[in-house]
Amino acid sequence: MYLKRLTLKGFKSFASATTLELEPGITCIVGPNGSGKSNVVDALAWVMGEQGAKSLRGGKMEDVIFAGTAGRAPLGRAEVSLTIDNTDGALPIEYAEVTISRTMFRNGGSEYAINGSPCRLLDVQDLLSDSGIGREMHVIVGQGQLDTILRATPEDRRGFIEEAAGVLKHRKRKEKALRKLDSTQVNLDRLQDLLVEIR
Ligand code: ATP
Repeated sequence: MYLKRLTLKGFKSFASATTLELEPGITCIVGPNGSGKSNVVDALAWVMGEQGAKSLRGGKMEDVIFAGTAGRAPLGRAEVSLTIDNTDGALPIEYAEVTISRTMFRNGGSEYAINGSPCRLLDVQDLLSDSGIGREMHVIVGQGQLDTILRATPEDRRGFIEEAAGVLKHRKRKEKALRKLDSTQVNLDRLQDLLVEIR
């Protein structure tokens, strides 16, 4: 599995449709200050379901839509599509290529699609949850965040690593299973009481 293609249209500084072909072997993007390198990373996080405007270096979510320049009027919507090569079947979907899209209008929320079919944010999160990418996976480390990680306590740092390794999902499942066990124990106790009463 690898990120194959990223298309941005009306997203931050990318007013016109721009496609980045991320051929295997590409390991970095270089460019002058302010040319939009971080906006590309923001687009990756956004299309995978990022909900926090701050994580996208904005004040409100609407800030991801092209705000206009001296020579170009603002746009009404932002669109990002991410194509993932899935020939190894790492994503639980029977397609060799998976395209996740997100669109946002100035006056409303976001719309998501997987391979062109409209879906919910939850579907995107489910699709990516076992892949090691996606929201809350800590695969994107922003400028300045390195400092936070270096200054974190050993416990916090362990939390980052566990999330990146996908342990969080299993911890949540374990908590759910323990809650079920607790309620089953309550039912068993009640049953025991009833048996004592009947005898
Ligand atoms: P550096 O190397 O300094 O970190 P960079 O290449 O990462 O720079 P970005 O932070 O990705 O640059 O891009 C910043 C540019 O994007 C700024 O010129 C800013 O005005 C522009 N920009 C951000 N949001 C929008 C928006 N909504 N509409 C139009 N332009 C935007």
